[in-house]
Amino acid sequence: MELPLSSPAKCELRSVILFLSAKNNSPVEIHRQLVEVYGEKCMDIKNVRKWCREFNEGRINVHDEQRSGRSSLSESTVARIDEMVRANRRITLEEIEDGLNEDFSHFSVHKIVSNTLGYRKVSARWVDKCLKEAAGEWYNTGITKLVDRMKKRFMKTSEALHWTRKQQKIDMDPEEQLYTPNDANTLRTSALALIFSTAEYCAPVWEGSCHTKLIDTQLNSTLRIITGVCQPTRIDWLPVLAHISPPELRRNEATKKMYQKLLDSPDLEINPILQSPPKHRLKSRNPIWSRGNQLLSQNFNISEAWTNSWISSDIPNKNLITSPSVKIPGLSLPRREWVLLNRFRTGQGRCAELMKLWGYTKDPNCACNVPQSMSHILDDCPLYKFNGGISNLHSVTPEALNWLKALPLRL
Ligand SMILES: [Zn+2]
Repeated sequence: MELPLSSPAKCELRSVILFLSAKNNSPVEIHRQLVEVYGEKCMDIKNVRKWCREFNEGRINVHDEQRSGRSSLSESTVARIDEMVRANRRITLEEIEDGLNEDFSHFSVHKIVSNTLGYRKVSARWVDKCLKEAAGEWYNTGITKLVDRMKKRFMKTSEALHWTRKQQKIDMDPEEQLYTPNDANTLRTSALALIFSTAEYCAPVWEGSCHTKLIDTQLNSTLRIITGVCQPTRIDWLPVLAHISPPELRRNEATKKMYQKLLDSPDLEINPILQSPPKHRLKSRNPIWSRGNQLLSQNFNISEAWTNSWISSDIPNKNLITSPSVKIPGLSLPRREWVLLNRFRTGQGRCAELMKLWGYTKDPNCACNVPQSMSHILDDCPLYKFNGGISNLHSVTPEALNWLKALPLRL
């Protein structure tokens, strides 16, 4: 069936609605009449209802002028929107529309917020991602920087050691040589001041990281310099001989102290977090509150922890040490005697048997034709042996010192 009228203008349809609703026709009736004349697609019942409502509320304009009127926003409205955004940065466009007295479209409010006022929507997820990336980068460069700084300091200590050796080559009265300041004590102090202070910078923050072994490797090299022991020596020996607590325990101690300090300062912003820490999201995470809390509840004591780990280990000659945190004798000996002493204590030195094992020589035998181990030289060798045994040597009795000085081997 051909329609009486087709493709009408919007205002034409609205004028018809205005006319018919003024004659008190219902929206359904108006819609029926419109479809009859203009066809099914001219306007749906929903829109007819909307226009009926608007005309009943007093509107007489059938054009879209109202919309262009909407976009001419006064300065006061822009200022009002700005104020709303500043008050609540997470405000939505709908909330802004509701908050305004006049009727504005979604589009124009969006235009004001983004074009006129220049606000940009920032996704919370994106910010989170950026922060995580920044934190990861900071962490990585932090650890790398720390290791670099330590290496530099480590070089300095090596130089100090070199200087110590040079100094001792100068002919000195043996008595005077005993009191030379360039001994293990001096090295120990400079290592603590130069290397350990750097290596433990902010330790409670990063102590839970799995990368701490990078730093421990450097610290163990430092301890080897102080004690003069061979590379294959068990690392449990190093802190005992150098009289510096193991790096891990030192970090635990620092964490415990820091945690206690934070708990004791209720004014700090972190304090409420420590009182009721957030839930663990990942198993691998080990934040300061869980470590600190654990250490406090265990009543962590550094010398106790050290003694326990010493007792549970299976280190050769470990019976020499009853309490690892007690300073061992000989730290002020001249370098040669100090190094020799430590190599006998640890059982690792350049004796023929080990030199063969490490691939430096072919003959593992002593001049007395028996495999030459460190204990052979000390206890059994008819040519070199020391009558006092390892315990007297460890306590550096005058006889032991004389024997060390007179020993013609380079071990
Ligand atoms: Zn021998």
